[in-house]
Amino acid sequence: MGVAISIANHLKILFQPERLKYLSRAVGVNKACVFCEGLKKGVKFESLIVFEDELSMVFLNKYPYNGGHLLVLPKRHEGDLLKLSEEEYIGLHKTLRRAVDAVQTEFRPRAMNVGANLGQAAGAGIPDHLHYHVVPRWDGDTNFFPIIAQSKVIPLSLEEVHQRLLPYFK
Ligand SMILES: [Zn+2]
Repeated sequence: MGVAISIANHLKILFQPERLKYLSRAVGVNKACVFCEGLKKGVKFESLIVFEDELSMVFLNKYPYNGGHLLVLPKRHEGDLLKLSEEEYIGLHKTLRRAVDAVQTEFRPRAMNVGANLGQAAGAGIPDHLHYHVVPRWDGDTNFFPIIAQSKVIPLSLEEVHQRLLPYFK
């Protein structure tokens, strides 16, 4: 799972202190969690959130593998899929389906990787807050990791992806 490993490496960067400066007004659920912190800002480009409802939320991956790479999460800070309530589980997966549909309709990829790394040993960069990756794939976008991934050029800016996906979640 080269993709997952690369993403995990990128996500680990989020834990570097200099990257956390902008999260300084931390109060609440989990101060160390970039997702819980982002949630406080609500749906806007600054938070990288494109959708939230009572039980789930959708972020843009700050270090995308491809343009349109989304993260779909339960709203509650929980790392264990098995500890979600029935309601949370259903809400999360409805949102996951919605995210897949939005990416498919807007970016028309050839294929998609959808999945979660459960636990650090599986490559999860932020194991304490469960998140599914939705990664659009095109022919020929496969790279060797992590060397080329570091300098990979992604033709879509995060801002553009955010703008283009917002309407799908209204
Ligand atoms: Zn969290």
